[in-house]
Amino acid sequence: MLDVQNIRQDFPILNRTVNGKPLIYFDNAATSQTPQQVIDVIVDYYSNYNANIHRGVHSLSQEATDAYEQSRLKIQNHFNAKHSHEIIYTAGTTHGINLVANGFSSLLKKGDEVIVSALEHHSNIVPWQMLCERTGASLKVIPMNDHGELILSEYEALLNDNTKLVFVNHISNALGTINPIEKIIEKAHAVGAAVLVDGAQSCPHIKPDVQALDVDFYVCSAHKMCGPTGVGMLYGKEAWLNKLPPYQGGGEMIAEVSFEKTTYAGLPHKFEAGTPNICGGIAFGAALDYMNSISFDAIANYENELLDYGTSELLKIEGLKIYGTAKEKTSVISFNVGNIHPYDIGTILDKMGIAVRTGHHCAQPIMDFYKIPGTVRASFMFYNTKEEIDTFITALKKAVMMLS
Ligand code: PMP
Repeated sequence: MLDVQNIRQDFPILNRTVNGKPLIYFDNAATSQTPQQVIDVIVDYYSNYNANIHRGVHSLSQEATDAYEQSRLKIQNHFNAKHSHEIIYTAGTTHGINLVANGFSSLLKKGDEVIVSALEHHSNIVPWQMLCERTGASLKVIPMNDHGELILSEYEALLNDNTKLVFVNHISNALGTINPIEKIIEKAHAVGAAVLVDGAQSCPHIKPDVQALDVDFYVCSAHKMCGPTGVGMLYGKEAWLNKLPPYQGGGEMIAEVSFEKTTYAGLPHKFEAGTPNICGGIAFGAALDYMNSISFDAIANYENELLDYGTSELLKIEGLKIYGTAKEKTSVISFNVGNIHPYDIGTILDKMGIAVRTGHHCAQPIMDFYKIPGTVRASFMFYNTKEEIDTFITALKKAVMMLS
């Protein structure tokens, strides 16, 4: 059982008011809030051992290096990667995807095929389109049904010997659908294709085991899971990371530099050019510690309760339609009420202290599928409560009355 009232004490931001009303934060799929335990780690870093890492001869540099590398081990352990050098620090999910897409530029050729899903965030579409433009490979799309579920039989029909890569999110940010990535990975491997899973929305709710999944690349952002912005990780199987060329050149990623020839550092440094987000990396580890101290099982159970409660209460509102009714979904509810524009609902809710997201959620193809400009999206985390959902429902009813 999760002690939500106790947990809420860890999040100072939950005590503030917005427009004179207590904040109700339901925009967690965009970014999560930060517990004091993680804020303390950030303050401690800048107060006590802020220094550039690796190769520093002085104590501060050593302390910062140790903490940063310790955090890499925590990330390795959390995702159950075989080696710590399979964990590459990135600036976030978008950076991780671009790193891999760039690497495949030298591995793909005309006639090769890559597969994306209809449920993707723009950051898991555009880099692959750019890759296809550069290489002449073609992009195929796994279609979805009205529930917002991928149609696996169509996926199987797309796979063939030319398929080199499949990229799919674990959970859709716009609809909350949990995709059957185990099956997707297995089928892709059967034709020799590699799979990249965008875990931006899954990592805040579940604990992926990259070895059990046998996934080739897995990416996520710390800011969706109680950590700071500007840091994330790319997991890649050692063999793949060795095959991919470096993404950016600069300091830290080299072995030897001369004007005639530069040789690159080994993993993970080959992909970590320049001074990284040192404090962010350390705080990412602290965020994982925090979430694991609550337990991902308890988090998932509680968030499922919030999802079920929120869904049933929302459906009592006349004219309200939920987009994304997959059997397997997480605590994201995307909806519209009649013909009311989502932006208008979001603006009135904000006046009542309630933060939701409105718009296309960086997933325009999904909005096109439903022939809508966007939705209102309420996304819950383990620090939200049923009482907050009640207040939100009352406020939403008021907003609908004002706008009808
Ligand atoms: N993929 C998905 C499914 C997302 O939800 C997001 C963030 N909204 C991203 C990718 C991009 O993450 P970031 O902006 O942290 O790079």
